[in-house]
Order: sequence, then structure tokens, then C-alpha cells
Amino acid sequence: MAKQDYYEVLGVAKSATQAEIKKAYRKMAIKYHPDKNPDNKEAEEKFKLCAEAYEVLSDEQKKARYDQFGHSAFEGGAGGFGGGGMNMDDIFSQFGDIFGGAFGGGFGGFGGGSRGRARVKGGNLRIRVKLTLEEIANGVEKKVKVRRKVQADGVTYKTCTTCNGTGQIMRVTNTILGRMQTATTCSTCQGAGEMIDKRPSDADAQGMIVKEETVTINIPEGVTEGVQLKVGGKGNEAPGKNSIPGDLLVLIEEVQHETIKREGSNLHYDLYINFSEAVLGTSKEIETVTGKVKIKVDAGTQSGKILRLKGKGLPSIERYGTGDFLIHINVWTPQELTKEQRKFFESMLVDDNFSPNPQKSDKSFFDRVKDMFS
Ligand SMILES: [Zn+2]
Repeated sequence: MAKQDYYEVLGVAKSATQAEIKKAYRKMAIKYHPDKNPDNKEAEEKFKLCAEAYEVLSDEQKKARYDQFGHSAFEGGAGGFGGGGMNMDDIFSQFGDIFGGAFGGGFGGFGGGSRGRARVKGGNLRIRVKLTLEEIANGVEKKVKVRRKVQADGVTYKTCTTCNGTGQIMRVTNTILGRMQTATTCSTCQGAGEMIDKRPSDADAQGMIVKEETVTINIPEGVTEGVQLKVGGKGNEAPGKNSIPGDLLVLIEEVQHETIKREGSNLHYDLYINFSEAVLGTSKEIETVTGKVKIKVDAGTQSGKILRLKGKGLPSIERYGTGDFLIHINVWTPQELTKEQRKFFESMLVDDNFSPNPQKSDKSFFDRVKDMFS
């Protein structure tokens, strides 16, 4: 079944202002509110759909995406509600904005009772890791030392006595919808539902200590400077049995290679050969980022020629294959000559063999550059 247009759902025109959208949503939210329509599945669906429409249309960025791409802009969960629509927790948490804070959540009995208790998450930690091109080419496991906040050994937590573990204090108030039960976050436990019971003397007031720990990071091949990797759960811990630790964020830095230059997934290398090698041909061993490779330089090779080692560059992080290793040949012209050498080259000044005679196959500099990027 085709999904109903969000503007139709709220009954507003495409040109509606944010104030009009908000007003329309308030009207719909009251009309289809579960407390006003007990055991009415259809009203509940409508209620959810209105909330979803409002979630998108009240956000200028999401609204712009929706206007351009329609519902497909949010397929696959982007924006937080791809498959099953918004859940009731999300909807009620939105109500603070809509109704001016009168309903923090907790419309009696909805949502299964777990709503409101915040799972406290510890803070994220950030580190930088320097990688060589060889490490980037092959992927690497790095062990880093981080100073994390963790729960001290022997610390215990108990159910918060102020809110009985619900994380909320319930209040009955009179509102435009009649008598309503509303909830505010428990100030004793900050909504966690837990408080400290016993803590060792070296721990802080929340039972936490700072500990140095070694964390192993698996760095995939092909990362680039500035990429941030996340190691889940290796940030700071938070107090409480139900808390979840933060993440360790790893910022990748690239160490400049002495002889190899990176350009995306391609690598460039300058090879210097002497005049005789260029004339007679030679073979050379090149150190690539994945090991040594033997290459052949043909007799009569011109300076500026590029040899391409297919697939000897870096893998792309998106797994679109591997780049190439490009060897730029530079012919070294001797700068000081012995008497004999000078005599030899002087005699060659008039030799036909020594006069430039570029063939079609000796591509010009610009052709070669064009070639390189194709
Ligand atoms: Zn509490």
C-alpha cells in the first residue's frame, strides 16, 4: 500500500509555515491520542503516522529531502523511522516541544512501563593513530593505551529510593486533555533509576576510577587521513548496573612515506636510472607497499615514461578494488664528465642515433598525465 503523503496526513498545504505545521500536528495529536481512543488500533496508527509526518516536516533538512525524494528519502531507517514508523517513546518525547512541556511523557500505561528510565551512556574517548602506507595497504592491528573512566572494583549500585528505579517522578496535573499523569526525570538519580550503594575509598562519588587500559584496534586496509573509526564500548564507562560505556573514536593520521606518494588508491614512485641503463635497458627491484617487485626497463626508454603495476596500489576502503603503483622513470643526465666521456659525447653530437626523433608511442607529457587519470 502506498504511504500517505505527509502533508495530507497533517492536512496542511505544501506551502505551510512551521507554525501552521505545528498547529496542525497539535490538533491531530489530540484527536488521535491513545488516551482519547482507548483500544482503537486505527487511531493509534493515525497517531503514529501524524507524529512521523511531523517529525519530518518540522525539520527543515528532512522536509527538504522529503520534498525532493518523497518517502523514499527515508527508506531503510534513515532519519530514525524507516521500517516500523516511530515508536511511542519517540512520539511522547517530542511532545515537550509541541505542548510546551506539559507532557514530558508517561501518558498512563502506554509503552510498557520501561519508558523514562534513561540508560546512562559514558562519554566517548578520542585518540589519534599514525599509520604508514604499508600499514594502510595491508590493514593492521594496533594496540593503544587509553585512560578510561571505569566502575571501581567492589562498587555496588542499588535501586534509587526516590523513584523506585523508574527514573521518573509521576505527577497528576490538569491539562487541556483533562486530568493527566505526567512524569519528570528523577532528580536523585538523573533518570538512571539507580544510585550508589557501596564504593571503595579510591573511587569518586559515583564509584568511578580512571584506569589505563590497552585496547586493540583492528584497522581495515585502505583507510585515509581523517577517517574516524569507532571501537564500540571502549570509551568511558558510566555509573550504574544498567549503564552502557561510551565509544573510543580513533582518528587516522597518515605518515608521509619517504619515497612513495599517495593519490587516492594509486601510488606514485620516482625511479632514477642512469644514461647507460636508459640506452641499454635494465631491470630494477622496487619496494612497493606490499613487497618487492622486479621490473624491466626496456632499452631506449625515455625519461618521463610511466610504468604501471596494476593492483599494487592501495585497496579502497569501500572495497572498489585496488589502485595501481605508478613508476615514473627519470633518466639521470651525467653532470661531470671525464675527458674520455666528453670526447665520446661530443662525437655523438652529429650522430643520427643521438638526435631526438619522438615516435607516436613516445607519448607527450600531457598525454601521459591524461592517461594516468583515465
Ligand atoms: Zn531516581
